[in-house]
Amino acid sequence: ELHLPNRIRQLALSQPSAPAVTAEGATLTYAEFDTYTNKVATALAALASPPGRIGALLRMGLPGAAALVGCTKAGLVFTPINWRLTPDEIAWIATDAQIGVLIVEADFADAAHAVAAALPEVRIIVVGDSAPDGATTWGQLVTSGTDTDPGLGDDPETALLQLYTSGTTGKPKGVVAVHRNIYNTPEGLELYEFGNESVSLDALPLFHIAGSGWLSTSLSAGLHVILLGEMRPPQVAAAIAEYGVTHAFLVPSAIGMLLELPDLDEYDLSSLEIIAYGASPITPALLERTMDTLHCRLVQRYGMTETMGALTALRADDHDPRGPRTHLLRSAGTPLPGTEVQIRDIVTGEVLPQGETGEIVSRSRNNVTGYWQRDAETAALCTDDGFLRTGDAGHIDENGYLFVTDRVKDMIITGGENVYPVEVEAALAEHPAVAEVAVVGLPDERWGEAVTAAVRLVDGVEAPTERELVAFTTERLASYKKPQRIHIVGELPRNASGKILKRTLREILGPREC
Ligand code: AMP
Ligand code: MG
Repeated sequence: ELHLPNRIRQLALSQPSAPAVTAEGATLTYAEFDTYTNKVATALAALASPPGRIGALLRMGLPGAAALVGCTKAGLVFTPINWRLTPDEIAWIATDAQIGVLIVEADFADAAHAVAAALPEVRIIVVGDSAPDGATTWGQLVTSGTDTDPGLGDDPETALLQLYTSGTTGKPKGVVAVHRNIYNTPEGLELYEFGNESVSLDALPLFHIAGSGWLSTSLSAGLHVILLGEMRPPQVAAAIAEYGVTHAFLVPSAIGMLLELPDLDEYDLSSLEIIAYGASPITPALLERTMDTLHCRLVQRYGMTETMGALTALRADDHDPRGPRTHLLRSAGTPLPGTEVQIRDIVTGEVLPQGETGEIVSRSRNNVTGYWQRDAETAALCTDDGFLRTGDAGHIDENGYLFVTDRVKDMIITGGENVYPVEVEAALAEHPAVAEVAVVGLPDERWGEAVTAAVRLVDGVEAPTERELVAFTTERLASYKKPQRIHIVGELPRNASGKILKRTLREILGPREC
């Protein structure tokens, strides 16, 4: 089967001079990218023997793309880590993953130090002009490799990617993907209506499945992929205009920010054919505005890290803001080929009839088999008959369309990033003036949801200000996790057995005024 490394090998023969990747103005053809990734593969394999884990703190660029493909060729497991986390959070993940090598951009030096302190044996590869004592630069690494393809990546059950997602317990867990999980079927690729001249844009985080998955999809389809480092709306617009981008994956909050660019009219975005979007819910209003402003077609994907991409998709033809099927703009679409989706009772686990709301479960070759060294969580991930629990709630209509309407899991999605309330609650609870705290996500126009805390203070202490409390969390958590509002309350709503009622709290705190 044509897993990612085999697709690259094949494209290097079938379209050697076609552009493969462009990053920071430099382009490699498929033949050059194949050679380059052979060098990366052999150099990394000399530092870590398979199935070693290669950690990375990288933006979406050539080193990240080449490390991903290089690892797949060498039987290594690529572990990109969220560089927006604090150095301590990053060191925790690096230790959990037992990485042997860390590829790190020069400006993430604080995080690299924290990892080196936690794992003294780790080999550091710095992406930059020079490397501090003992470390190697990315350039030196590539030069040390040879153009001999290690030839691995054929086995569907070999691990190739370990992505971290936050967990309900507050500590992230490693989602281990094997080759068959990220395999793009020809039917799955049809969704995007790629053509021979299609140009793809990837400005998503490498450390999320949306980013590494879109890279793998675009490369598997033999496209020219523009790697953009980070999601910055003006740069996204400029790159679309400069490279004639036809296909882009954007998260809803990024689409919103793109549309809000004051000088949007000045960019020629007419090359855009398809915007794929997903990772969090989107409003029909934003979809309509996108179609009216950008005049392109839209494809929605619904899935999660554990499903290594999409379970269902709302096809371009189903995005119809004026016709009789407008209600489909609230739908996540229909299952992709080879994927079964069911709705099950949250308590009894029974399969529910069409139209009823329950937990969304799925069975697919893309679903991962579990978490890295987390037996209990791995066991809880699937039902006895092998369906993966998404932790999302929804229903399926009479035409087979899935509607994701709620979340069973206690998770907030803000700007496409997941935040588990427990983490934020634990950080705030450390403050001496905080007696109790509960964190919820409230609807927010810009971010989708806003992390919002309700805090009851210890009696008789000097009350901290909201700002002081926010600053306190910033020292302990990645900045996207910090509460956007903290409400000081007299008491928290509880049920008879003392459990905090988050739903009630959400109603009390209300939507955030914008
Ligand atoms: P992650 O593991 O970070 O990819 O987060 C997965 C979660 O994001 C899912 O379980 C959903 O709650 C949410 N999600 C992803 N895609 C969509 C979508 N198209 N519509 C609504 N929610 C989504
Ligand atoms: Mg996400």
